[in-house]
Amino acid sequence: MKALVYTGVEELTYRDEKDPTKVSGESILKVHASGICGSDMHAYHGKDERRIPPLILGHEVSGKIQNGKFKDKNVVLNPLITCGKCEYCMNGREHLCPNRVLLGMNRPYERSGVFAEYVSTPNQNIYEIPDRLDLSEATIAEPTAVSLHAVLMGETSLKKPLKECRTLVQGAGAIGLLCSLILSKIKGNKNIIMSDPNKLRLDVCSKYFDGKFVSPNDKEVKENSFDIVFDTVGLEVSRQQAISVIKPGGSIIHIGLTQPSGQFNFRKATLQEVTFIGTYCYTNKDFEKTIKILADKEIGDLSWIEYRELKKGAEAFKQIHDGSCSAPKIVLLPE
Ligand SMILES: [Zn+2]
Ligand SMILES: [Zn+2]
Repeated sequence: MKALVYTGVEELTYRDEKDPTKVSGESILKVHASGICGSDMHAYHGKDERRIPPLILGHEVSGKIQNGKFKDKNVVLNPLITCGKCEYCMNGREHLCPNRVLLGMNRPYERSGVFAEYVSTPNQNIYEIPDRLDLSEATIAEPTAVSLHAVLMGETSLKKPLKECRTLVQGAGAIGLLCSLILSKIKGNKNIIMSDPNKLRLDVCSKYFDGKFVSPNDKEVKENSFDIVFDTVGLEVSRQQAISVIKPGGSIIHIGLTQPSGQFNFRKATLQEVTFIGTYCYTNKDFEKTIKILADKEIGDLSWIEYRELKKGAEAFKQIHDGSCSAPKIVLLPE
């Protein structure tokens, strides 16, 4: 099969790779479409110790199953492979499984990713999709589930309904946009400010929901003025801003993780009862809900997804890297 292989730092090679072999308890997916995620970019930059070249990256995927009990079904994969036996798996918090591994990783063990024509997947990770859900659009199930989980974590932490909140979403990438769409179209929040230094990206997002679209140093983004902040960036500078602009009793939802450590204003957090929530991935239930949300078009038009050929994937990575691409999500299509 053809695959886009991560062969070295900032280097991807489109080449022939061995087809996946049939393993008991698993099925082979013929990939229809696969999305490029921020974490793939992180690996591409050589900054991920769980993704060491050579490796086929990618974990956001839709396609048709080739064999076994799901044969010929159109599906999406939940790329998070968990043990099914630990305390977290037994209590509906599978994403916290200490034995979890994601497609497109090779540490602690190899799990080939989805930037390829075929991929092997455990059967429990296969989710059939309804006919009314477009197979290409279904690729964004995974980042949508990440965003849904983050919004739900935020919602349960607050003492007032989300729709009454003044909300800051930092970052106009896929997760920032998806959180905003869920907040705006499902939760009825009409007071969303989205911030990003990249005006191109803000302009794209501004076509898809009602909000204000500003640079991070705009006067709208002022101290003690937001009930909830979604940091989808995870830089020291975005976290510092989040803690400064959050209102007393507000919640900071931290999803991005570009810089893993830094300063934190514990004084404000304590004296003003600020809730700080780190959030990672999604539960299996969130993933199921997401498929329904996408099938029922609850987050509206998805024409912000940009499609490219898998064989030109290296170029797409380069453009995301140098900021010349403004699409919140690029999805790759094998021939
Ligand atoms: Zn992802
Ligand atoms: Zn587990």
